[in-house]
Amino acid sequence: MAGLYIHIPFCKSKCAYCNFFSVVSEKQRADFLEALKKEAVARKDYLGGEEVKTVYFGGGTPSVLEPQDILGILETLDKNYNINAAAEITLEANPDTVSKESLQEYKSLGVNRLSIGIQSFFDDDLQYLSRKHDSKHAMQVLDWAKEVGFREVTLDLIYGIPTLTDEKWRNNLEIFFSTGFNHLSAYALTVEEKTALGQRINKGMAASVDEDAVIRQYQILVEMTENQGFEHYEISNFARPGHYSKHNTIYWKGEKYLGLGPSAHSFDGTSRQWNVASVKDYCESYSFEREELTLDNRYNEYVMTSLRTCWGCDMEYIKNNFGEEYVKRFKNLTKKHLLSGKMFQKDEKFVLKDYGMLFADGIAAELFM
Ligand code: SF4
Repeated sequence: MAGLYIHIPFCKSKCAYCNFFSVVSEKQRADFLEALKKEAVARKDYLGGEEVKTVYFGGGTPSVLEPQDILGILETLDKNYNINAAAEITLEANPDTVSKESLQEYKSLGVNRLSIGIQSFFDDDLQYLSRKHDSKHAMQVLDWAKEVGFREVTLDLIYGIPTLTDEKWRNNLEIFFSTGFNHLSAYALTVEEKTALGQRINKGMAASVDEDAVIRQYQILVEMTENQGFEHYEISNFARPGHYSKHNTIYWKGEKYLGLGPSAHSFDGTSRQWNVASVKDYCESYSFEREELTLDNRYNEYVMTSLRTCWGCDMEYIKNNFGEEYVKRFKNLTKKHLLSGKMFQKDEKFVLKDYGMLFADGIAAELFM
């Protein structure tokens, strides 16, 4: 089983904190759609005929495309890939780019999961992030999603925003629970220097992130989601049982996926490939870079991604794929984290506790070969 990721590189405007590849101009939309279809045909053997269990439209903002555009892409994928009839088909949508009618159309053409970029239900937080929607419209969109019958909906929320108090963060989570949706992706605000927000903070024109508030709000998140019956299955992802993201689980479990579109990444089990991050270059001639992964690279990736999940690092998997020496080294280096209580062992699996997940990147780096 494998996954398909489609990168739609257009956004209505650029959010101040955004570090994803996207452009504001839609001048090249028609050329992009043409190039995307060509790439889909050219790379149809990448997954070796494996059945595709997930299709994910990410971006950018996929909901800037007309439903007919999405339909055209899905038809091309259907002709060229072995897509499971019950595949999870997710579309990322921003509140300012959808209407009840467009949601209805996305649903009728096969999209069965929405990922909605809410970020906060408070307008001052949205302004700090320079998002284009307001909280009133966000609530309206969530009602539409329910009214048109989307059962699988995930919301993105951001904590650690300087304007977000602990109380407001609790309110955001309560509003999310009141929607009845079964999946939440909650991210700590990270500020990259080259983004507009990074530059504003550097010049003293915007408040910077308070790391203590990030930790407090993460703890509030873990506690409140647990009380509501959500499972914390990846550092930033929470779901009621049976509602995990199938597509993202492919990344976290090291399964194959093909990424189409500018800047999209692909993984075939032994190598990684990434497309050129330019709409113009992508439309003119599709080009990419590729890296064959060494055994150590693959081990490092496995450790880094698995430590961020509730499944943890499996010693059986490491023994079978990398060798006994890697297991010995892993066990030696993690003794202190077992003792400090950041990590626990269950049978042959080493798993970070909720609090330990805050240190996942640092712990993984210590374990790298
Ligand atoms: S909508 Fe998403 S991808 Fe587009 S600029 Fe904002 S954060 Fe970036």
